[in-house]
Amino acid sequence: MKSKYSWLAPALALVLLAASCNRDKQATTETAETEEAKVPAAPSFNADSAYAYTTKQVAFGPRVPNSKAHVATGDWLVQKFKNLGLTVKEQPFEAMAFDGKMLRSRNIIAQFQPQATRRVAVFTHWDTRPFADKDDQHKNAPLDGASDGASGVGIALEMARVLASQPDSLRPNVGIDFILFDSEDYGYDGSTQSDLKNQLQAQEEQGKSSWCLGSQYWAQHLLPANYKPDYGILLDMVGAKNAKFSREQLSVEKARDIVDKVWNTAAQIGYSDYFLFQDSPGITDDHVFTNQAGVRTIDIIDHLPVGDEYFPAYHHTTQDNMSIIDKRTLKAVGQTVLQTIYAG
Ligand SMILES: [Zn+2]
Repeated sequence: MKSKYSWLAPALALVLLAASCNRDKQATTETAETEEAKVPAAPSFNADSAYAYTTKQVAFGPRVPNSKAHVATGDWLVQKFKNLGLTVKEQPFEAMAFDGKMLRSRNIIAQFQPQATRRVAVFTHWDTRPFADKDDQHKNAPLDGASDGASGVGIALEMARVLASQPDSLRPNVGIDFILFDSEDYGYDGSTQSDLKNQLQAQEEQGKSSWCLGSQYWAQHLLPANYKPDYGILLDMVGAKNAKFSREQLSVEKARDIVDKVWNTAAQIGYSDYFLFQDSPGITDDHVFTNQAGVRTIDIIDHLPVGDEYFPAYHHTTQDNMSIIDKRTLKAVGQTVLQTIYAG
């Protein structure tokens, strides 16, 4: 079931049916059904549940490294994945932010079917940006990070819940690792923070970044050791109403087949209003470093399809709160990723 043929099956069935005027329709239909039956349907992703997981994180308060809310949320996430029956590993680390602060951080890795040899990684980040520097009025205020942070984790948790509740016969044939990076969003934004000194400037010139501190640490200290999944999918800003996902440049360069697979799946199950067959410039996100670590990774990230702005207006502002979260977006992303994994 690895081949793209699986994806072609329903389309092929239509072509065959259309071309079957002077052939035996019955026989053609049966062939099509047999082929289609080989594509396992994923279980249903519950958007209410994903929404509740998103709400819960936001209710802890901004998940800014070194804060109480951050520690409490991390503890809750670890416990939640354990309660769902996954095997959880924590990767504590300290990293220096651009402003010189040492951030007490941890990556959280939750494994479903840890014994499976073939694996897929679902990456996301669980911290929130400490300041709404793109806000018109409250530039120093922390933000809820409802879409930028909590939504990706909410989808990961719901995927874990659905997967773990399947009987053996309905489980996918791969293991899945939910890898939640910390300290992704404490980076230096030259467009809004030019009055501040970026203390990591020298390092940035050597290919490091003030963003994505958790994935950079992880890429240097792979956990699980020698980790080599078939591919990875990064979820970032995946919960806002009317979100749009384009085919981001680095994703296409590194894993064109996975981009195609995800976008075609979305179209097939009715979510092409979210997953646009349109390209977007590359961005610095955790997938830069997971790709460097040898995991072919694509990024699913909310991107404005028209105009010069890369991100929608809520990005890094106090508007990124629960009022912009839409269950249908959570469903579109969660169901598409689940179905992609089930199709193999
Ligand atoms: Zn962000």
